[in-house]
Amino acid sequence: MNGQMKKLSTIIILAGLLLVVMFVFNGCKKKSEPAAPVESNEITSAVFEQTICPIMGEAINKDIYTEYKGKKVYFCCSGCAEKFKADPEKYIAKLPQFKD
Ligand SMILES: [Zn+2]
Repeated sequence: MNGQMKKLSTIIILAGLLLVVMFVFNGCKKKSEPAAPVESNEITSAVFEQTICPIMGEAINKDIYTEYKGKKVYFCCSGCAEKFKADPEKYIAKLPQFKD
């Protein structure tokens, strides 16, 4: 009778360990899979909304920008930056960062 109890408790312990191992594996999979793509999407949309020069409508150059009302405004060339500085109110309607 004593031997049987020992066998039974060993089986229960092994079954318990197996459950814990399965739980840990499942938990890891659930945590690591959805995290990566969500984060990268947030970074690209939040940091960089403007893609087009408000003066000429060309693709912007990230090295050419000025700050207006605390927000960065990007241009396709330095000539456009000068035009914007001369009359910024004329162009901000075209900028997504000033739409609110
Ligand atoms: Zn330009």
